[in-house]
Amino acid sequence: MENRLIYVDNSATTPISKEVLDAMMPWLTEGYGNASSIYSKGREAGWALKGAREKIASILGAQPNEIYFTSGGSESDNWAIKGAAATMAKRGKKHIITTAFEHHAVLHTCAALEKQGFEVTYVPVHENGIVRVEDIEAAIRPDTGLVTVMYANNEIGTIQPIKEIGALCRERKIWFHTDAVQAFGHVPINVEEQNIDMLSISGHKIHAQKGVGLLYIKKGVVLPNLIEGGAQERGKRAGTENVAGIVGLAKAMEIASQNIEERGARTKVLRDKLIDNILKIERTRLNGDREQRLPGNVNISIEGIEGESLLLSLDMYGICASSGSACTSGSLDPSHVLLAIGLCHEVAHGSLRISLSDENTMEEVDRILEVLPGIVERLRSMSPLWEKIKKGEDTAVKMIH
Ligand SMILES: *Cc1c(COP(=O)(O)O)cnc(C)c1O
Repeated sequence: MENRLIYVDNSATTPISKEVLDAMMPWLTEGYGNASSIYSKGREAGWALKGAREKIASILGAQPNEIYFTSGGSESDNWAIKGAAATMAKRGKKHIITTAFEHHAVLHTCAALEKQGFEVTYVPVHENGIVRVEDIEAAIRPDTGLVTVMYANNEIGTIQPIKEIGALCRERKIWFHTDAVQAFGHVPINVEEQNIDMLSISGHKIHAQKGVGLLYIKKGVVLPNLIEGGAQERGKRAGTENVAGIVGLAKAMEIASQNIEERGARTKVLRDKLIDNILKIERTRLNGDREQRLPGNVNISIEGIEGESLLLSLDMYGICASSGSACTSGSLDPSHVLLAIGLCHEVAHGSLRISLSDENTMEEVDRILEVLPGIVERLRSMSPLWEKIKKGEDTAVKMIH
């Protein structure tokens, strides 16, 4: 156990599972034909693509011609939001509603649109990490054309009332997009039942390859073409298809959509043991709602330490975890998600995210719990901030809420 790697950063990325790799392998080797070619080597690739699209559509409750393959979550989010903005602008609408704690693929896209003259309302997030439908409703204006709210947050794992937000948007005739990159495979998703017009999924968060994903676009929602060129993806996103990646994505989605309840129940046991025991360390706080959260997400602020130092110390024990999101670590900006739920800068800095997958074990959890308190104690003993907190001098460290 001593030196075995413990990978608990599955919200950053996941390893490709054996079944997914097995499904992909023929298309990386002898099945190299171009899916648009008419000889049998090409047609075989075309059939594999068709099969993957049909399988995915049935998993999501969609039609095959509503599934568009992309390079991943960021591309899907960009396409959905920029595309919807372009179409709604033609119809005289320029207002978009999103939330303060979206992934940067959404937030930065909205910021880019603001520079072009669109108006964006960033609905605040309740301190439990859940967006309120009433707040979305209150933000709606006559010129609102798009609402985009993530299904589950990538840092604190909180699950949003997507079906209700979707129903509201449908009633008001506003397009509704959700970034379901973190949620897919952990909550049952059906685009029809949940009133979703556009939905983003990424392969590498669900044990498929990096660089493959999809955007579901409901029939009737018209987005401009993303890439001009060939006829791939109904002419909307040209480029020779990543057949192996797409076949792998379909396999990963098939596996992730099965036994969601049982798999989640098993993971929750590990998650809850981590939460209960890490919270025994003094001056710690769970971020995000305890119940309405992904089965594998643990996010705890530990006062008086720097997230970066904590991660490096954990790494010395072979434990891969995260603090804030992968994109922001490396910068000294505290997580926008933790700030959005009302934490102050110092506390937001010292947070630990552990994200579990089906592959993690109780032995790994026990090992983390064995080493973590000692690491925290050592880091705090070197921290001037912790000195102040202990003496009660540092009032800035109090939570805002
Ligand atoms: C990882 C992630 C993305 C980006 O997906 P990529 O495939 O890495 O581009 C978008 N949204 C959320 C919520 C994510 O967790």
